[in-house]
Amino acid sequence: MASCDRLRNFRTFGKKVMAVGRNYRALAAEQGNPVPEQPIVFMKPTSSYVTEGQSIQVPLGCKRLYFEVELGVVISHKCSQVLEEEVDEYIGGYCLVLDMTAQDFQVNAKAKGHPWCLSKGFDTACPVSDFIPKETIPNYNDVELWLKVNDVTRQKSSTSDMIFPIPKVISYISSYITLEEGDVIITGSPAGAGPVEPGEVIEAGLADIISIKFPVKSS
Ligand code: MG
Repeated sequence: MASCDRLRNFRTFGKKVMAVGRNYRALAAEQGNPVPEQPIVFMKPTSSYVTEGQSIQVPLGCKRLYFEVELGVVISHKCSQVLEEEVDEYIGGYCLVLDMTAQDFQVNAKAKGHPWCLSKGFDTACPVSDFIPKETIPNYNDVELWLKVNDVTRQKSSTSDMIFPIPKVISYISSYITLEEGDVIITGSPAGAGPVEPGEVIEAGLADIISIKFPVKSS
């Protein structure tokens, strides 16, 4: 099993970011979407990671860049077809992630029935915190996520509003895709996701455990 020290560097060796869309009841209601029957799964490339000190760049031609604050789970070691009751064995720790979305790209792609990879995978689309040790979050089913734009609160919710809790999400994804040490599962955004403009600053946190801050710049 991966040591905590090694997992601190998950951003440098993890191979993938698996993401779940529409996973909070209040967000689905806010966007007028039905509650999905199974997790909606997509990927973000690890090349889209940015860390504090760097900025979020609006991708070329994007007119509506959206923020989504999410709890990320860092996988401790290789696993596939994990049962829900065994998932905790494969959680090495956590991170806080912004699932930045070129919302106009995504809407256009969906309308044409095309993949929306670019809308979620562009460079700087995945601002990510430092590693959060597993023991820091004793109950991942009820931890607060918050996000502010220019000091105004835009998202504030608990992971207890998830439609598919973390064990279900990881078990489901691992039924099809092998998860490996350092991979990250981002678990969906609470209500309040919305647009940001160049010049604005996003600050987000996980209760008072960790916070991250990123400026938004034009491309
Ligand atoms: Mg998301």
